[in-house]
Amino acid sequence: MHLLNADLHCHSTASDGSLSPTELAQRARKGGVVLWALTDHDELAGQAEAAAAAKALGMAYVPGVEVSVTFAGETVHILGLDVDPEHPGLVRGLAALRAGREGRARAMGDSLAKAGIPGAYEGAIAYADNPELVSRTHFARFLVEQGHCANVQEVFQRFLKEGKPGFVEHKWAGLGEAVGWIRAAGGVAAIAHPARYHFSPTAEYALFSEFREHGGRAVEVTCASHFPDEVAKYAEMAREFGLLASRGSDFHAPGESRVELGTLPDLPGQVTPIWSLWADRLAERYEASLAQH
Ligand code: AMP
Ligand code: MN
Ligand code: MN
Ligand code: MN
Repeated sequence: MHLLNADLHCHSTASDGSLSPTELAQRARKGGVVLWALTDHDELAGQAEAAAAAKALGMAYVPGVEVSVTFAGETVHILGLDVDPEHPGLVRGLAALRAGREGRARAMGDSLAKAGIPGAYEGAIAYADNPELVSRTHFARFLVEQGHCANVQEVFQRFLKEGKPGFVEHKWAGLGEAVGWIRAAGGVAAIAHPARYHFSPTAEYALFSEFREHGGRAVEVTCASHFPDEVAKYAEMAREFGLLASRGSDFHAPGESRVELGTLPDLPGQVTPIWSLWADRLAERYEASLAQH
């Protein structure tokens, strides 16, 4: 159970990934994934296709989403796993969040124009299928295409990180709001890539305790953003706060993402995997696949 190849975090063309849910499912299967979740930013539009593709390939599927939250002045991402993708409260909450993206993108475009990069809003929109889904990643792809930077990482460093010319402050969902939507939709909330935030130890402690108080139950321990010492740190924090541990590649696009679907190290031994919640479902899936052979 512990060593199950679960990959519970990635992005499709329904947010800022470059592959369709079906293409991602195929790639996950190739990477040996047996339990998979698609977790687009603030969007559930890829869920039906992802679930169908997973089923066709014999992978167990967990419907997911990655919710943008503002906590203590920073953007924090909260994964919702095993949510009902049709739950009206969750659907409404995410729609309200997405509605803010277009205006933010216009402000980013204006700000980049002042920094000598014209046309970035239109360029980014062309990369996003829908203006509601436009993200910094789409701006980054446009700037690379225009030759301003060699790759997406460099664009973030020079233009899109906090304090850089293309960064625009934005207020996302509240922590309690996001965890509330996820729980109402029957899901489990998990703090995504905790090592990515720039919190003081006190603010980080507040994030974990408030998250727990709101009913959050898990934390991403093994993910592409974490160095081995960070995996150990968050495994320890998972124990301290009584949280389940998740594992996800955060795969976005071939050639952009450092880690392929299904290829991360296993969770460290001392944590309880989030998929211990779904043992029945996994057992059924295994029995079904054994019966086929
Ligand atoms: P947004 O939701 O528009 O703020 O965009 C956030 C997305 O930008 C994240 O989900 C990542 O896909 C991407 N991102 C953030 N920081 C970096 C970075 N340093 N390098 C590459 N991609 C990044
Ligand atoms: Mn992203
Ligand atoms: Mn994220
Ligand atoms: Mn992500």
